[in-house]
Amino acid sequence: MRYNSTTDKSIVVTASQAIAQGISTDGGLFVPMEIPQYSMSDIDALTKLDYRGRAKKILADYLDDFTAEEIDECVEKAYTKEKFGSDDPAPLSYQKFGDVDMNILELWHGPTSAFKDMALQILPHLLTKSLKKTTDKEAVILVATSGDTGKAALEGFRDVDGTKIMVFYPVDGVSPMQKRQMTTQEGENVAVCAIKGNFDDAQTGVKRIFTDPALVKTLNDNGYLFSSANSINWGRLLPQIVYYFSAYSEMVNDGKIKLGDKINVAVPTGNFGNILASYYAYRMGLPINKFICASNSNNVLTDFIATGTYDKNRSFYATISPSMDILVSSNLERFLYHMTDGSDAQVKEWMTALKTTGAYSVDDATKAKITDIFTGGFCDDEKTQQIIGEFFNKYGYLCDTHTAVAVSVYKDYVEKTGDKTPTVIDSTASPYKFSKAVLEAVADGETLPDDEFAMVDLLSEKTSTQVPAPLAALKSKETRFTNVCAKEDMADFVLGTLGVK
Ligand SMILES: *Cc1c(COP(=O)(O)O)cnc(C)c1O
Repeated sequence: MRYNSTTDKSIVVTASQAIAQGISTDGGLFVPMEIPQYSMSDIDALTKLDYRGRAKKILADYLDDFTAEEIDECVEKAYTKEKFGSDDPAPLSYQKFGDVDMNILELWHGPTSAFKDMALQILPHLLTKSLKKTTDKEAVILVATSGDTGKAALEGFRDVDGTKIMVFYPVDGVSPMQKRQMTTQEGENVAVCAIKGNFDDAQTGVKRIFTDPALVKTLNDNGYLFSSANSINWGRLLPQIVYYFSAYSEMVNDGKIKLGDKINVAVPTGNFGNILASYYAYRMGLPINKFICASNSNNVLTDFIATGTYDKNRSFYATISPSMDILVSSNLERFLYHMTDGSDAQVKEWMTALKTTGAYSVDDATKAKITDIFTGGFCDDEKTQQIIGEFFNKYGYLCDTHTAVAVSVYKDYVEKTGDKTPTVIDSTASPYKFSKAVLEAVADGETLPDDEFAMVDLLSEKTSTQVPAPLAALKSKETRFTNVCAKEDMADFVLGTLGVK
């Protein structure tokens, strides 16, 4: 199994190189050169396994330069009962919204209460093993975050041998809960620093450090190298394929579908990673009928699927589903590569247009191929809160703002098409990560407390649902990281933390 770049097929690497490197030297993303094929009897075999067993099988088929023991170790360390609250890290919850069945795939039972844990609990293990195969240095992971990714990466890399992780967040750019999650982070190999600037400044600062030859050399001389945990790494995408096979298996086991029946998937989408993982599952043989791509008011993907034109020249909205506030969905590049049967030249042309003009249009044949299996829709903040309120008050299920976007778009789809295919709806975060917006949605009009933890308690009281233990525990946790630095001083922070001059 080899991987090549989406924009230059002559660049070919092994699985561990793809993961260690993160991104191709030509700026393209790594894609598998062939996709493992599962027959119905292979899928039948998966139904007999637990989540970890399914993960081992699927990972082994993509990571052929890992030994079975190495994959076992990665999976066993990542998806523990201790970290995910049960032996099934991705449970399904069968709900109804009016007469529409909602098979909600809860992906947020991990340590940071967002679906990023599904990949970031295992990536550190995959990455350290990949690094061992390709270098003898210790990895310094740098992350710029607007909230969810930083915390999930910290928690994933905490106390992982051979790694150090440093996270930079904009001092006024994250929610109170997200800030507390990061500043109280435990672990011997972690550091967190707020920067006086916005998310773009943090991102630019990290990129500058990555590419500063003098800094890279200083690190090298001291036995370190920089590495990345962002969502373009194949090692973050691959673990997400597993939960689609797992959800299908559970629905077969629960008698919701028969082996071989088709399902739809509805995914609240930002960077296009999660929904792309479901597409890989489909290409491997999982019977999927339609991919329902749900966006918030930043509906660049809805327009792309409807028109074939991707255009990021538009207003940016800060919404109550902030993890989907994104105008450049990086993983779309991989999807386009597969939709053009691997035309690296074509993908390169579109990506260059995106960089230079902010827009590109795909040809009619590609557009037809996309709309054959994909449909898109969006939902604004007002509708999102209305859905949360109705789903809870009428039908008794509490969901977060991102999940509500998918629920809304799926409801619209069913109304428009009458499609009765059983559908898996990805639930990507705990409602307690976005307490204010969720509380407003279920509390109709009463005055809410200002304090984050008072809101969390009130939400729990009103909805008779439990606050995830790691979020509740933050209230009494000691703050470890109070550093705030100027954006020009990020490199000094890195060197100082490493004790390197
Ligand atoms: C990251 C994130 C998303 C978007 O997922 P993509 O893979 O980037 O499309 C949706 N919901 C939540 C809560 C997230 O953290």
